[in-house]
Amino acid sequence: MIAPLLARRSLSSTVVSRLYIQNNLSNDQTHPKLEVDGARKVADFRSDTVTAPTDEMFEVMKKASRGDDVFQEDNSVRDLEAYMAETTGHQDALFCSSGTLTNQLGLCTHLTTPPHSVVCDSRSHVYLWEAGGISFHSRASVSPVIARNGIHVTAEEIEGNLIEADLHTAPTRVVSLENTLSGLIFPIEEIRAISEMSRGRGLAMHLDGARLWNASQETGIPLSEYGKCFDSMSLCLSKGVGAPIGSILVGNREFINRARHLRKLFGGGWRQAGFMAATAQYCIDNIVPTMPATHKLAKYMSESLVSLGISLQVPVHTNMVLIDTAPVGITIQDLMPSLLAKNIKIGGMGTKSRLVLHHQINKEDVDEFVQVVKDVVASRQEVAAPQQVAAQAC
Ligand SMILES: *Cc1c(COP(=O)(O)O)cnc(C)c1O
Repeated sequence: MIAPLLARRSLSSTVVSRLYIQNNLSNDQTHPKLEVDGARKVADFRSDTVTAPTDEMFEVMKKASRGDDVFQEDNSVRDLEAYMAETTGHQDALFCSSGTLTNQLGLCTHLTTPPHSVVCDSRSHVYLWEAGGISFHSRASVSPVIARNGIHVTAEEIEGNLIEADLHTAPTRVVSLENTLSGLIFPIEEIRAISEMSRGRGLAMHLDGARLWNASQETGIPLSEYGKCFDSMSLCLSKGVGAPIGSILVGNREFINRARHLRKLFGGGWRQAGFMAATAQYCIDNIVPTMPATHKLAKYMSESLVSLGISLQVPVHTNMVLIDTAPVGITIQDLMPSLLAKNIKIGGMGTKSRLVLHHQINKEDVDEFVQVVKDVVASRQEVAAPQQVAAQAC
């Protein structure tokens, strides 16, 4: 048991040596499978952050500029920031190390005078998964709103949770939305309604658009259309976009100047960052266009799993398949040994798992996953069957 586990560990940490292309669902060769040092490939469904840099990316890094970004003297970083400002319809952009940093910088730049608060969906990353950063960095409280439709919060729900200025309160200053959230697309009409209502009340609009490209690619709505509804947006380059490192914050010039100052304060000013910016641009150009095929594969996967009796926690809009195995009487833990034996990695607890697809997952991986589930469910039923017979005999 120990030997295969060790082998697997060294395999996942080894630098990727080369790519081989396999046909995917749409047969367009956009989903190359990673082969690690000629060893057995790994299919990692735990997140879209797990994508490994390719040889092509290392070639791009070699050609990147090598200036100092704290001095704002790196051309690759400046080019990426200019490109992002333009494509999102904002004046300026700031390239940072993580989405947590760009979200927290964005919020902190809006939140200048406590007491104050942020209103957001109760499932938001900024609220749940950023180590309580809103209270730490911005000294703000949060009003988490439950989305009654299970997909997105509405203008009515946000309006109903705004806190008015009063001697006793921490008034709402920022409305923070997330798109996509658990892979769910936030409808642009609802975003527009929230933006209009909030701006009418003098509130700032922030978007956690860690996966905004997924929403944009799926709906055909350009980033700049979303951009019109927000004063600041954070977009991740290391999720489905496939870059090893980076996130972008966009806003107006004054806003980004202030965020740049705060980035230095947070210790996030970086020096020769050009190789990361150039790689991110390469990924925007080459991997973002493969997202629709990834989404199609996620749909196919969800349909295959539903046909086995597994249920979905939320509908599949983009690259995530949130499953619940309770209806077939198995847990995620029950699946893990058989999946690991095939070098398939998933996360989850109890009967729930979030399966995330990305450009290094292809149809063969999905079919292999579905087959394992099928086999485990069948073997459970075989074990369960004699007990049922016994029960009937009594
Ligand atoms: C991943 C993610 C972030 C940022 O995460 P980092 O790991 O800090 O880059 C922010 N928001 C959402 C919705 C995310 O999924």
